[in-house]
Amino acid sequence: MMGLQKAPAASPGSFGSAPSLADLPTADFFDFESLLSVQEQRKLNELRAFLATEIAPYAGQWWNKAEFPDHILPKLAALRLSAPAQRGYTHLFAGLVIAEMTRVDTSIATFFMVHHDLFVESLYDFGSDAQQDRYLDDASNLRTTGAFALTEPDHGSDVAGGMQTTARRVERAESDGGDYWVLNGAKRWIGNGTFCNYMLVWAKDEADSSIRAFIVDASLPGITRSRIENKIALRTVQNADIVFRDVEVAEADRFAGISSFADTNHLLRGSRIMVAWQAVGQQLAAFDVARRYAVERMQFGKPLAKFQLIQQHLVDMLGNAVASMGMMVRIAQLQEDIYTDAQGTRHGGAAMAQVALAKAYCSARMRETVALGRGVLGGNGIVTDYGIAKIFADAEAIYTYEGSYEINSLIVGRAVTGVSAIV
Ligand SMILES: Cc1cc2nc3c(=O)[nH]c(=O)nc-3n(C[C@H](O)[C@H](O)[C@H](O)COP(=O)(O)OP(=O)(O)OC[C@H]3O[C@@H](n4cnc5c(N)ncnc54)[C@H](O)[C@@H]3O)c2cc1C
Repeated sequence: MMGLQKAPAASPGSFGSAPSLADLPTADFFDFESLLSVQEQRKLNELRAFLATEIAPYAGQWWNKAEFPDHILPKLAALRLSAPAQRGYTHLFAGLVIAEMTRVDTSIATFFMVHHDLFVESLYDFGSDAQQDRYLDDASNLRTTGAFALTEPDHGSDVAGGMQTTARRVERAESDGGDYWVLNGAKRWIGNGTFCNYMLVWAKDEADSSIRAFIVDASLPGITRSRIENKIALRTVQNADIVFRDVEVAEADRFAGISSFADTNHLLRGSRIMVAWQAVGQQLAAFDVARRYAVERMQFGKPLAKFQLIQQHLVDMLGNAVASMGMMVRIAQLQEDIYTDAQGTRHGGAAMAQVALAKAYCSARMRETVALGRGVLGGNGIVTDYGIAKIFADAEAIYTYEGSYEINSLIVGRAVTGVSAIV
């Protein structure tokens, strides 16, 4: 149900019987979804049906127990949402897919993003034909899972300059398997890291300090993975500390096209957009839950929705969500607007500073929105049974990963002043 056509039947000022939620406008108040093609809208509804039956009823239990539901992978793969650009979908569709997943469960959306938007996309963008032949089909169909290992225990925001994980090339005769690399170091926070089959590992070349990236089989000797316990956000996502001790990786598993952090940034720009869409999804979710509660919960003999201050909270939440969504729709348009000139140079797309502003802005609005929503639920807002507590807690991860609020702000600050304040 879209937009304003189906306004509430109840007349203003009366509260009589509670309005049916199905008759109220959706949180997509400006009907951005109508910008999708009919085929894309149909696909999004297919995703919604999957999320409603396979994820929504169980997401709270998985989160409470900090368990990842491996059994959903075949059904998730059957939706065929991997690599939307290669399947002919728009960037707006790809963004709304992540927003809808997040609206139902942020952890599942995060698993999907790490696997598809970082691991699978890296194969498309940087993989050789041989690497794509070897890894893409299984990864796209979730028969194998991937992770993205960049952050380190001592280097998060400053990992570009501070990376300590090293790679040393060793020459070896072709007849003995050819050249290989030896990886040493540690990574932290790696999503899907405890169970993934492969990870994209970033390391500094001991020879010339350039940045290298490797597709690493997670079962190789010398790799130790331990789950990060006691998280208060994204508990269903399995984040790992990973140690590499003299791990031998074949030259054939290096991304030959990657030699600097600019290449890393190329991938991060894409996934940062998706995290900003997550901040949209979080706000839609918070509005859904808070509005339902406000309409159904009675205090002083009336539904909470009858109180002006509660309405103000809902309107502030909706305004934040719609403003964030509008910004992301423009980002999606910019992503479509790429052209190649006669010299073969690509132009257009969403620039990193624009993406950084979107991520910083949407995640700041998200923090306000989920806090207002949590407040609307009163005491029930702090138990996960009512949904909003999980949304509230998960927002903290979104605020921090893919460049924290501060780092993304500084990227924009540098763009608009010409002066870097990051270091
Ligand atoms: C749930 C979760 C999942 C993650 N998944 C992955 C993953 O799959 N793969 C991966 O590689 N990484 C992952 N990360 C890591 C994430 O990208 C980092 O947490 C993030 O980059 C911030 O780094 P940090 O945590 O080390 O914080 P720090 O860099 O130590 O920053 C701490 C605080 O200082 C601020 N700060 C730092 N530098 C500056 C500065 N110059 N000016 C102003 N303020 C500054 C930061 O904004 C932050 O508020 C994940 C993190 C989380 C929480």
